[in-house]
Amino acid sequence: MSPIVRFAPSPTGFIHIGNARTALLNALFARREGGTFILRFDDTDLERSRREYADAIEVDLRWLGIPPDRVVRQSERLATYDEAARRLRDLGRLYPCYETAEELDRRRRIQLVRGRPPVYDRAALELSGAERAQFEAEGRRPHWRFRLEDRRVGWDDLVRGPSHVETGSLSDPVLVRQDGSYLYTLPSVADDADLGVTHVIRGEDHVTNTAVQIQILEALGASIPAFGHHNLLTTAGGEGLSKRSGALSLRSLRESGLEPMAVAALAVLVGSPEPVRPVADLAELGGLVDLAHVSRAPAQFLESDLDSLNARVLHGLAWTEAEERLRALEVGGGEAFWLAVRGNLTRFMDVTGWWQVIEGPVEPVIEDAALTAAASDLLPEEPWSQETWRDWTAAVREATGRKGRALFHPLRLALTGRDHGPELAQLLPLIGRDRSLRRLRGEAA
Ligand code: GLU
Repeated sequence: MSPIVRFAPSPTGFIHIGNARTALLNALFARREGGTFILRFDDTDLERSRREYADAIEVDLRWLGIPPDRVVRQSERLATYDEAARRLRDLGRLYPCYETAEELDRRRRIQLVRGRPPVYDRAALELSGAERAQFEAEGRRPHWRFRLEDRRVGWDDLVRGPSHVETGSLSDPVLVRQDGSYLYTLPSVADDADLGVTHVIRGEDHVTNTAVQIQILEALGASIPAFGHHNLLTTAGGEGLSKRSGALSLRSLRESGLEPMAVAALAVLVGSPEPVRPVADLAELGGLVDLAHVSRAPAQFLESDLDSLNARVLHGLAWTEAEERLRALEVGGGEAFWLAVRGNLTRFMDVTGWWQVIEGPVEPVIEDAALTAAASDLLPEEPWSQETWRDWTAAVREATGRKGRALFHPLRLALTGRDHGPELAQLLPLIGRDRSLRRLRGEAA
């Protein structure tokens, strides 16, 4: 049976790198097993959900290289939830409650004062028909709770191994609000059942939900998917990520020029037994993920890890992958240029700066006029190759007695206007004789 998985964000903001971890773990699992990756928008909260965020999430997933096989929106599937709620009501598992928020709050405080856990006392289950009618007559509308069975709910977690939750210590969850709208729990379960989801892979903040959801699935007579709860990404300071932590949104990471493979590799590999490193493609990344070996401790990362990983991705990026992108930026120089500069990039965009070093104009810096004058006299005729630099600088050394840094540094400053950069042996043939000569003479070229 081929697996069906889903990534289920609420479109109430831009998704961040932690959400990318969940999305990638799902998508890569589906790909590896020949399954289906569903993007499900949990958008039943009509006030907070926005279409523009949903669209942005689709763009982000495509950028990461994991476009969904199917997109569903909970806001278009309300009939499915109404049907599930009706069945639970018929089974006596969904019951109306009339307490106001203030009443519930007061009871919770009394429980806490008495040293008891603040669990809903199920008072609404004791209401007689007449009492309910009375509340309705007063204009009170009920919210609806799912009656949990008080027992241990266990499952074999794909990440955490054998797991269980005592549902007797939980409050019966509210599934339907007073205004008839659904909270997250029931739509999620109804969709997982209806869409045939086989593996629910999500963050460990959902462990308790899983016990509740298993009971609802059982009540509905649905089959129980496998569950896996991965550790959450946190900043190096241990802070969790939220849709409000804008800097780590996929959108801002993309706009800052990071490579999707760097973001994907970090999002997946941090907090796994595999070292965080560049990978060739998502297939390789998928091969490195073993849910059973994902750590249970929070996966901490430094934002600067992204920069260094990005640089490493670029340093190994093949010409065939760079070619079209260079053309789009109107950067020439062909493969020789790419191989010369890729090791000096931290962002792909940096190529334009290095291309300007080749094409000019460069403001040369003349640090040692005697040296650069001699060097310009000794500049050989073209054609030039990568050996030209070695032969030329050997001649300049001989003529001037300069060597080491005293030889190379003034030449670099004159030829490129910068004090560091790619190998001059590779840059020199690209700069060419004409521009080299002018720069060595101190002319902008
Ligand atoms: N909308 C939920 C969330 O973003 C989905 C959780 C789940 O995967 O079931 O946390």
